[in-house]
Amino acid sequence: MFCPKCGSSLTIGARGNFECPSGLEFSVNFSRELREHYPHAEPTGGVVRQMDGARRWFCSGCGDETTGTDGPCDCGIRMTPVMVHSLIELHPHPNGRGGWF
Ligand SMILES: [Zn+2]
Ligand SMILES: [Zn+2]
Repeated sequence: MFCPKCGSSLTIGARGNFECPSGLEFSVNFSRELREHYPHAEPTGGVVRQMDGARRWFCSGCGDETTGTDGPCDCGIRMTPVMVHSLIELHPHPNGRGGWF
């Protein structure tokens, strides 16, 4: 499973929720949503992908860059508007330069 905001591969926290190695802990609810939405996602490894500051989305199932809800990833899955809303409103992500996105 990959971070939808930076593409890093996620680790699993003490409560069974996903954590981005770049510093974002996903809620228990959102972690369950990820598992249900991407049932075939690869096991997670905590590999950090370098951020270049550009705002974009990544597919949690395969880690490829996507356009968010505009179209499906090559793997055929797209994020739902509810997931995007949760990511924007409830899951601020460090941008590596002292800010958040
Ligand atoms: Zn991330
Ligand atoms: Zn994909």
